[in-house]
Amino acid sequence: MILPIVRFGDPVLRQKGRRIESITEEVRRLAADMIDTMRDAQGVGLAAQQVGHALQMCVIEISPELNKERPSRKWIADKEVDPLEGMPLVVINPELTFTKKKEIGVEGCLSFPGISADISRAWRVGVRCQDLEGRIVEFDAAGLLGRALQHEVDHLNGVLFIDRMDPADREEWREEIEAIRAGGSL
Ligand code: ZN
Repeated sequence: MILPIVRFGDPVLRQKGRRIESITEEVRRLAADMIDTMRDAQGVGLAAQQVGHALQMCVIEISPELNKERPSRKWIADKEVDPLEGMPLVVINPELTFTKKKEIGVEGCLSFPGISADISRAWRVGVRCQDLEGRIVEFDAAGLLGRALQHEVDHLNGVLFIDRMDPADREEWREEIEAIRAGGSL
């Protein structure tokens, strides 16, 4: 089922997600609905806050076409694997570790329609999370997958990409951001 996507201005986007202690039927249904919603909106990722739930869960999907344009890399136990394996990813209760080395790349956000900016992120992240079966999953990611994970895990902590925008970029988008906050559009 496709859910309405919450836009900037809704307080749920600033709420830190609650840890998911048990993977109930309700959690499974929410994950399936989040995947439908992300695909419908042609997004790369979606956090629970973006559909009105302050929970530690996000979904990510990178298509083969997008992977050609903006490649990803993935490692399991330091062995490089196909970055598209296991898509769509359902990421529950994630913890990230970040490399000091940074990389700039363009980002948008389904809660900020029409806005995009270059954001500096860690070049590679280590992820420890749970999947929908409750199993512990660990991997490292770089490229678009690494960036999407950082963007989505920020959402789970109430952090938005405008918080990480260069102040000059944020100033340039000021009117558009305010219009979204006010519930209208320019
Ligand atoms: Zn976002």
